Amino acid sequence: MRHGWEGAVLKLMRAKDFTFTVTGAEQVTEHFRRVRFTDGGMLKATGVHPTMWVRVWFANAGRPHQRGYTLVEPDAEAGTFGFDFAMHDGPACDWALAAQPGDTIEATVQGSAFTAPDPLPPRMLVFGDAASLPAINSLLAALPEVPATIWFETAHDSEGARTLVLDPERHRLNLVPRKEEGGHLVTEARAALPELIDDPAAAYAWVACDFKSTRGLTALLRKELGVPKHRVNAMAYWR
Ligand SMILES: Cc1cc2nc3c(=O)[nH]c(=O)nc-3n(C[C@H](O)[C@H](O)[C@H](O)COP(=O)(O)OP(=O)(O)OC[C@H]3O[C@@H](n4cnc5c(N)ncnc54)[C@H](O)[C@@H]3O)c2cc1C
Repeated sequence: MRHGWEGAVLKLMRAKDFTFTVTGAEQVTEHFRRVRFTDGGMLKATGVHPTMWVRVWFANAGRPHQRGYTLVEPDAEAGTFGFDFAMHDGPACDWALAAQPGDTIEATVQGSAFTAPDPLPPRMLVFGDAASLPAINSLLAALPEVPATIWFETAHDSEGARTLVLDPERHRLNLVPRKEEGGHLVTEARAALPELIDDPAAAYAWVACDFKSTRGLTALLRKELGVPKHRVNAMAYWR
């Protein structure tokens, strides 16, 4: 598949392209589908870092449709990994539902990076939802010694956060039903955060929700609560 102007820009940025081959797919929960792949040599070429994601080229009525997906259980030696698709209507999810062993898909590696906060915060403030659940698991596993409070937005009553891997000693989970197109999550955060942030300069927040909530949470953290820009790691995962 040709990747259009986005592909051309990524090429200029020295992005690397790989072809993944499906080895299997399974329904992890009602709302998550895991598709497993061999990596076409990617992991040995790029290495692996926490929260690592790639740009996958799905087709949408014959046009390139690039979407981010986070690596689950990457194994550089074996050259394998998975994606956990949070299911909703969309070309990427349609592709995941139909994926069969032997199917291939193209991906570009550009823009994914991870830098641990230095100094480590007394507590990480983590905001996400089903799309960023694989990245949250990877973040918490990368910094196991750091306590974290997680606000997890749920779109379905039955969804919960069953595949979040939490340490009951260090991690506190707040399940927040998705309401007001994500506005409710920002309201909840506004009520809870002041008590959790003693020193804004030492705080650290990691935010990966939909575009609107991510923007609202970033403004709350930086403008209202005074957390410095370099201590807020925010990226919209969908819109
Ligand atoms: C860095 C990064 C890593 C990501 N990792 C993952 C991952 O590991 N697993 C994962 O599932 N997603 C992940 N995402 C999010 C995923 O790329 C988006 O959800 C994407 O829009 C899905 O594409 P689509 O073709 O299925 O739907 P689109 O064509 O983009 O959208 C179709 C419709 O679905 C809605 N929609 C899109 N995403 C969601 C959603 N998550 N929940 C509810 N409604 C939605 C849109 O508003 C639209 O109405 C990641 C995104 C980024 C930026």
